[in-house]
Amino acid sequence: MKVSAILAAAGEGRRLKNTSAQRIGLPKAFWPLQGKPLLDYSLQALLDSKSVAEVILVLPAGFSSMPCAKEGRRKRIKIVRGGKTRALSVYNGLKCVSPKSRFVLVHDAARPMITPASIDLLARQAEKLGAVIAAKPITSTIKKGEQAKIIETVSRENLWEAQTPQIARKDWLKQAYDAYFKKPFPATDEASLLEAIGKPVKLLSLNHLNLKITTGEDFEMAQKIMNHKTEFRIGHGSDLHRLVSGRRFILGGETIQWPKGPLGHSDGDALLHAISDAILGAVGGGDIGDYFSDQSKKFKNISSLKILSHVLKLSESKGYELQNVDCIIHLEKPRLGLYKEKIRKRLSRLLNLSNDSVNIKAKTGEGFAPVGSGEAIACDATVLVQRQL
Ligand code: MG
Repeated sequence: MKVSAILAAAGEGRRLKNTSAQRIGLPKAFWPLQGKPLLDYSLQALLDSKSVAEVILVLPAGFSSMPCAKEGRRKRIKIVRGGKTRALSVYNGLKCVSPKSRFVLVHDAARPMITPASIDLLARQAEKLGAVIAAKPITSTIKKGEQAKIIETVSRENLWEAQTPQIARKDWLKQAYDAYFKKPFPATDEASLLEAIGKPVKLLSLNHLNLKITTGEDFEMAQKIMNHKTEFRIGHGSDLHRLVSGRRFILGGETIQWPKGPLGHSDGDALLHAISDAILGAVGGGDIGDYFSDQSKKFKNISSLKILSHVLKLSESKGYELQNVDCIIHLEKPRLGLYKEKIRKRLSRLLNLSNDSVNIKAKTGEGFAPVGSGEAIACDATVLVQRQL
């Protein structure tokens, strides 16, 4: 799925008066939050998401320097000058969207806590429904007031706070903006424009804080939260399969040319089993036998790619992102020299990790025990996952 992301970063931050950040004299998106410009957080999340193909960065006039997002998947970043209002800024971005993209995501740089997993979750929903926005059910009691006097207590039932990202079909969003500029009305987000032309928009509650930095208090709170916002967890997995004649030898999703292969209820890919178990271990998800019983005929000869894919989805649904994988393959023969790099590349694609976040070590059994006698293959894997809290 191709999504073009417009990162709205052209705001001045006028409501942040008298904060240390504002005194620097830079537009809001460039204020340093834990040593990085505010917009870098959202940009990094967009670059790290699987669904985003390009990022259109809308910057204030006079700002064109590329923020220093760490090297991730190679994606195009286009820089566009912002307009006088948020709507004009987003519209400028919309005009630069690649013709290949079917969906457009709009995100405010003022929400630095967005995660790649949430972006991908929203993108999947948008593909099904046409348009979806991040939102949060209102839990506070809402008062309508006039000159600081209560006029009415508004029922919070069915009330949601609209956030960003907001994702919609590109043709819908273009239609909505064209209609808006023909007949403008007070609107502060894309969903309002889509509603005005009668398009359905789904609300999706994210499972993490998606703070918007508007006031000085927000900025200070973000600084405090950023210190404690990431949870790291590790997991370990281990697997062993007997090697027998007449079985295809699959390891890390690659076929190894060898007269023997791993015996198993599945395709016997011991490396993918160890990695899948390590991920389940890190996210508190049990082991692969809990999901793919070797007693069930349904899973006879199942590809381990399916097992890994299931585990990755489970981990993602809990909000975790894989950081790196370190593996040891214990195998007497064949020597894996020729295959190690191939397996590493395959794993980095399967796990959505850079090449240097996947490490493979091969060991022999020195002639001892089942591995050493060539009767078995064993694999160990350790993973690190992180979650935004
Ligand atoms: Mg196994």
